[in-house]
Amino acid sequence: MSDQVITRFAPSPTGYLHIGGARTALFNWLYARAKGGKMLLRIEDTDQARSTEGAILAILDGLRWLELDWEGEPVYQFSRAERHREVAEQLLSEGKAYRCYATKEELEAMRERAREEGRAPGYDGLWRGRDPEEAPEGAPYVIRFMAPEDGETVIEDQVQGRVTFANKDLDDLVLLRSDGSPTYMLSVVVDDHDMGITHVIRGDDHLTNAARQSQIYAALGWERPVFAHVPLIHGPDGAKLSKRHGALGVEAYREMGYLPAALRNYLVRLGWSHGDEEIISTEQMIEWFDLDAIGRSAARFDFAKLENLNGHY
Ligand code: GLU
Repeated sequence: MSDQVITRFAPSPTGYLHIGGARTALFNWLYARAKGGKMLLRIEDTDQARSTEGAILAILDGLRWLELDWEGEPVYQFSRAERHREVAEQLLSEGKAYRCYATKEELEAMRERAREEGRAPGYDGLWRGRDPEEAPEGAPYVIRFMAPEDGETVIEDQVQGRVTFANKDLDDLVLLRSDGSPTYMLSVVVDDHDMGITHVIRGDDHLTNAARQSQIYAALGWERPVFAHVPLIHGPDGAKLSKRHGALGVEAYREMGYLPAALRNYLVRLGWSHGDEEIISTEQMIEWFDLDAIGRSAARFDFAKLENLNGHY
């Protein structure tokens, strides 16, 4: 892996660039700047049904307005599907993945059993080690990852600390769907690897994904990036941030007359602090920013604070 820090912002273009996404982008941008590295941009448009051109433009526009620039051209994940399939086939040929012909009814029965036994729903390994010849001629199949059954997967997260997952709780996830399309879990590992990403900084709703992704890295013999999972932003009432809390698109703040520097200052303080400093210039952010000063509890969005900060710019 390169000595230079390479981060990435990897939004799914299913809506505007919201406050949470903008903060993730800012943290990635700052960390790269602080370490003399670079930030790349990957548009995760694998969900073609939900991805829109308008959302892509809104995200690019929002980033430009916030002056969070990225190196080179954006990478469009969907355009790399062939490469993702190739890696799935490689895992299959190495016996680290397998064809699963489970029917809808069988999968539903698995879920039902898990419910009855009070377990989290998951795939029970029905087609693990089974001969594909047993499947009816021409039956559709998915390619599943053969996840380790015993032991633990440990993430040394730069924000969350050491997080341990029991492998028995991580089932054999789908890598390729029956139509041959790659899943998020596979695409993200292949892309982060191929793009030389050294640090993955994203919301902590992806923490379990990091464990699953780690298993895929291990199976491929690839080095994992460093992970930093940032707690999500909550509203002033402690509930998940929603539109009613002011979780608008970056575009809306621009229209309301907020200045990009004020919004950056506000965003950087949502979860990261440098003593009691309130007003932090972008130069200072770059000088001071580090992952270990990101808090472990959710930051609360507060419109009045943003308003107040904007007055200083
Ligand atoms: N595309 C994902 C999202 O927008 C992020 C994936 C990642 O950072 O690994 O939530």
